Amino acid sequence: MFDKKEFVSICSNLYQKQLIGGYGGNISVRDNDLLLITPTGVNKGILKEEDLLIVDFNGKVVEGKGEPSSEILMHFETYKKREDIKAIIHSHPPFCVSLSLSGTKLPDNILPETTIHLGTIAFVPYIPPGTMELAKGVSNGFEGGDAVIMGNHGVTVVGKNLLDAYNKIELVEETAKAYIFSKIIGKTNLLPEIDSKVLLDMYKKMR
Ligand code: 13P
Ligand code: ZN
Repeated sequence: MFDKKEFVSICSNLYQKQLIGGYGGNISVRDNDLLLITPTGVNKGILKEEDLLIVDFNGKVVEGKGEPSSEILMHFETYKKREDIKAIIHSHPPFCVSLSLSGTKLPDNILPETTIHLGTIAFVPYIPPGTMELAKGVSNGFEGGDAVIMGNHGVTVVGKNLLDAYNKIELVEETAKAYIFSKIIGKTNLLPEIDSKVLLDMYKKMR
């Protein structure tokens, strides 16, 4: 069953590390036909176990009070896309949002650890929040990797458990920061095509 204690602790860590804001972002974990998900509009830094909601795949709240995240369709469509996905974190951290605003796609051939753990980081142009169109667009982005930058919005990552998703949101934000700083310095050395193929194969084997 769901580990609400771990969920709340990871939410608090995300907030303290400025990986998630008061209004932005939502988190869920899957256990078979049920999701444990954050309520809409709640600050993740002060979230309590009793604030969390358990919902089924029809959107029916089976435990907890209040309304689930407005991005619940994105969570549903993403879990339907890949059986190996057991946790999702969506948020608006500043360096990913900078890429999202400028329409910049992170290449596969910049940092080995990033490609090994995240595969191809997709970029989905702006689609209004909370819509089925955004849910479809973002979930399609997870075909080749575990992170999707959402135009004029933020980022979503997936993991095989919540800690894995936490590590991945940290990794995509660190990568976005390093990439932006290399652009500010004025030089970004890219790995040869052959190396990025090897790294992508490593990602595919681990998935
Ligand atoms: P919720 O508070 O409804 O989860 O929405 C936050 C968000 O990031 C919308 O994209
Ligand atoms: Zn959002």
